[in-house]
Amino acid sequence: MRRTAVVVVVLLLGLAFALVSRETQNDLRLKHASRRAEQNGWIWVHLEGSPADIGYQHGYLLAPEIRDTLETVSHEMTHEEKKDWQFFRERAQNMLWPHVEAEYRAELQGIADGAAAHGVKLDLWDVVALNAWLEFPYYDKWDARQHDLPTTASVAEHCSAFVATGSYTKDGRVVIGHNNWTSYETGERWNIIFDIVPAQGNHFIMDGMAGLIHSGDDFGINSAGMMITETTISRFIGFDPGGIPEFVRARKAMQYSASIDDFARIMKEGNNGGYANDWLVADRKTNEIASLELGLKNVTLDRSHDGFFVGSNFPINEKLAKEETEFDLKNPSESGNARHARWLQLMDQNKGKIDEAAAERFLGDHFDTFEKKIDPDERTLCGHIDFSPRGSMPWVPPYGAAGAVQAKAADDAMAQSLTLRASLGHSCGLGFKAAQHLKKHSQFAWQRPVLRDMPARPWTTFAAQ
Ligand SMILES: [Zn+2]
Repeated sequence: MRRTAVVVVVLLLGLAFALVSRETQNDLRLKHASRRAEQNGWIWVHLEGSPADIGYQHGYLLAPEIRDTLETVSHEMTHEEKKDWQFFRERAQNMLWPHVEAEYRAELQGIADGAAAHGVKLDLWDVVALNAWLEFPYYDKWDARQHDLPTTASVAEHCSAFVATGSYTKDGRVVIGHNNWTSYETGERWNIIFDIVPAQGNHFIMDGMAGLIHSGDDFGINSAGMMITETTISRFIGFDPGGIPEFVRARKAMQYSASIDDFARIMKEGNNGGYANDWLVADRKTNEIASLELGLKNVTLDRSHDGFFVGSNFPINEKLAKEETEFDLKNPSESGNARHARWLQLMDQNKGKIDEAAAERFLGDHFDTFEKKIDPDERTLCGHIDFSPRGSMPWVPPYGAAGAVQAKAADDAMAQSLTLRASLGHSCGLGFKAAQHLKKHSQFAWQRPVLRDMPARPWTTFAAQ
């Protein structure tokens, strides 16, 4: 009898599973989408179709990850900016949404619908606020200044990156690399590889977070030959609430740009100053690279067929540094300046030898140019702020769990087939243990619900379908 009961249960479960699968298969919106098993921590998804369909596929296939990302980001934002999540939802609806164009409105709504269809309770305003999480601190800082109020909002100093071509690279073609700096609790979740074939615009591959229509840390390659990355401009001040959200412009440029001019035009049009970056881009068709330093008042586009551009959160244009930041370009102990000096050493020492493998080495580099020795800390290209008694103020206090969280690199040949290499966690190989860190530094106990271990995973190749 018992055996019969087990068989019946198994049969019923099988039937239920078949019905669910048939329902999924019959949902035409999911027909062209797929999700692969996790590989070295990364989740690869293929999304294809109209804006609404791409959004729905994204929401449905990554529903559990979207729930987890939303919980983590809202936990961090409410703590850091001392505002409840409802505040960001309201700003998303009333300040940002009016400046989001129809294509991305449909995709954002699709994400909310797809996630809801997979059992995640969230709505459109959660999705829009989540997409803007990197630019809200710029708004907060600007808003506090308008009203002469103190603020806890500080804009993060994200990332180390370079792009090189011509006599600097081994084959004379473009090589690009980037590591993402953020809090470890959010960085551990920056583990999606999006392979997107939109109905309009170019096919593209980019890294990202579940729920975001843009990469966020911005590393991507499109089928028109554009290779794109950035690092933020440290201590930037300025925001235009009437502008187009940065997340919309960044996504649009990834999807639609087919030249450096296109890229610059899309990023500048309606610039709201949010998440102000120095963009490092390449057009593999012309073998040209560029740096677009996108301030709100000062915008500089430099380009080259033979050379390199590096980024480590330092402002380039002195006028921009003076008028739009609180950054001290002359202080060599500043993380941005120390890493800038290291990039220049590496570019010089490796001239004519830079390839994708070199990019991987650079992104795991631990030479502190201020101390003049190997010492992983807030001043090294592979950032370990959690080891630093100085932290990276005003963004991260001493021993704060933040720094490099993942890295990506590609060369020209890889870009041709929409392929990139990526590593999750510190690419140098040093893992992070959450419980151990919180035990030693109890001031960060508030992170306990969301801070996870961040093991260092090997570099892995991902190609578009
Ligand atoms: Zn490291």
